[in-house]
Amino acid sequence: MEFIDLSAQQRRLRPALDAALARVLDHGRYVMGPEVTELEDALSAVAGGAGVLSCASGTDALLLALMARRAGPGDAVFVPSFTFCATAEAVALVGATPVFVDVEQAGFNLDPNRLADAVAGLDGGLRPVGIIAVDLFGQPAPYPAIAQVASRHGLWVVADAAQSFGASAAGVPVGSMAPLTTTSFFPAKPLGCYGDGGAVAFTSPDDAEVLRSLRVHGAGTDKYDTVRIGINGRLDTVQAAVLLQKLTVFREELRSRQRVADRYAAGLADSVTVPTVPDGVTSSWAQYTVRVPDRDRVAAELGAQGIPTAIYYRKPLHRHEAYRWFPVGRGGLAVTERLAGEVLSLPMHPYLGEDDQDRVVEAVRAAVGAASRA
Ligand SMILES: *Cc1c(COP(=O)(O)O)cnc(C)c1O
Repeated sequence: MEFIDLSAQQRRLRPALDAALARVLDHGRYVMGPEVTELEDALSAVAGGAGVLSCASGTDALLLALMARRAGPGDAVFVPSFTFCATAEAVALVGATPVFVDVEQAGFNLDPNRLADAVAGLDGGLRPVGIIAVDLFGQPAPYPAIAQVASRHGLWVVADAAQSFGASAAGVPVGSMAPLTTTSFFPAKPLGCYGDGGAVAFTSPDDAEVLRSLRVHGAGTDKYDTVRIGINGRLDTVQAAVLLQKLTVFREELRSRQRVADRYAAGLADSVTVPTVPDGVTSSWAQYTVRVPDRDRVAAELGAQGIPTAIYYRKPLHRHEAYRWFPVGRGGLAVTERLAGEVLSLPMHPYLGEDDQDRVVEAVRAAVGAASRA
């Protein structure tokens, strides 16, 4: 059993992928070839009509968003600690200061109340400028409540949707929930390419031109006239060609992930804390993450039966060597600390068969039963 099985999808798409890659080799436009704009249009449709600018990774997408917002030294950007390091890394790379904020226990995402506390309690001479909310494991963060805090304090909001592309809330797809949304096409994400890739979605046309310029060294209308400091952040044509083929099955795969999540919930809800998605919200189920006391023992027992699991995230960012110097928002990180000790992600991908799911369910139930008797 695989934790994330990319080969089942490849077997299904292989002839179309071979043909798409051959077309790129034939036309030879490896950088900014026609597939790149075609992909951006197709992604825009998934993102609810927001404009989409592809780029080289989810990390570059965050960097481009922060550069577009002119975040820099002296600026505080509020981020969760319970996330992948790239969320805070991009903030530090532009010279701004990530301020860690606690998350909600049920959704794993930024807690709007803790966010309000952190903004109000900011000290150390920092200027509050923005918020990066993360849609952890595929579930959108509570953007309406986050936007209220943001507008009260004049902050911008960026959605780090590296794990949630394809999800929605109240009928609004990821990409249209925040003015700027970043995502990743790393192979293991719900929509992954065969290397690194990413995108920024934007709802205001004003951002389009700046992002486009930042993606290619800050070029002006004349490409040899540089009007701002930018990066080389383009998505390769080959990766765009791969993504266009994967998009043809993406919606169906999202439905399959939902079926896996439903079956897990039915089998596990009475033995571990299963993830719940609020009414009107859909998840892209990048991960299926349960909470269980004695997590390491349960993981070890699953491992002994050949069932792979993963722990996202055993160590929250504020405890990493590189990030422990940055401030923690007022109110602390109690929920983050608790989650780090209890989360366990189970095998999740659209091609996970019912037999394998039932094996996982049985193994978890047995491990938890043994633990509670111990
Ligand atoms: C994967 C991920 C990123 C970074 O994406 P890359 O494409 O690997 O650079 C950023 N934020 C979160 C929450 C992620 O899961």
